[in-house]
Amino acid sequence: MGDARHQARPSDHNLGNAFDITHDPSTGCHGDVIASAALQDPRTKYVIWNRRIWNLERGDRAWRHYTGDNPHTHHCHVSIRSGARNDTRPWGWAPGGSADVTPPPAQATPPSNGTPALPSEQHPYPGVPLKKGDRSESVRAVQTRLRRLGWRIGIDAVFGPETDRVVRAFQRRRGLEDDGIVGPRTWRALFS
Ligand SMILES: [Zn+2]
Repeated sequence: MGDARHQARPSDHNLGNAFDITHDPSTGCHGDVIASAALQDPRTKYVIWNRRIWNLERGDRAWRHYTGDNPHTHHCHVSIRSGARNDTRPWGWAPGGSADVTPPPAQATPPSNGTPALPSEQHPYPGVPLKKGDRSESVRAVQTRLRRLGWRIGIDAVFGPETDRVVRAFQRRRGLEDDGIVGPRTWRALFS
């Protein structure tokens, strides 16, 4: 709920439609991770983090500069759709928090010809490139997608050597630079 300052003006907090999470990397809570996980959740309306806003309800496909008074560099603000207010399922950003995701059995080799006909899965690009050493729900989304596309890959939300190898192989197959970095182009190749 909103504090006294929020209650003095219109705010999703006053309606119970928003929450703030403190950016505190020293205790393992990073605003980048919270923001990208929230942006993958259908309950989310918009996220404000680190001078940027991403409004899913508006159909944003990327971060925009946020011009409000508070730059949101110390906390990540998440507004949810009011219809999702009573949805108490976990958000999946705690370590191991998405344990309910049961991946399909992996194939031994990548698909041999062309793109398999899979329903397109819309995941918004998290706004920052993913690379080796990262750990986030966006990394998990990439791993899950690669597995569904037929690549042999573990799903643990950690961008380790195996994910690096598979991402590079995927990039080569799609004619992208095989730099092992999941930027906007690789993301688009994965999810569209
Ligand atoms: Zn807030």
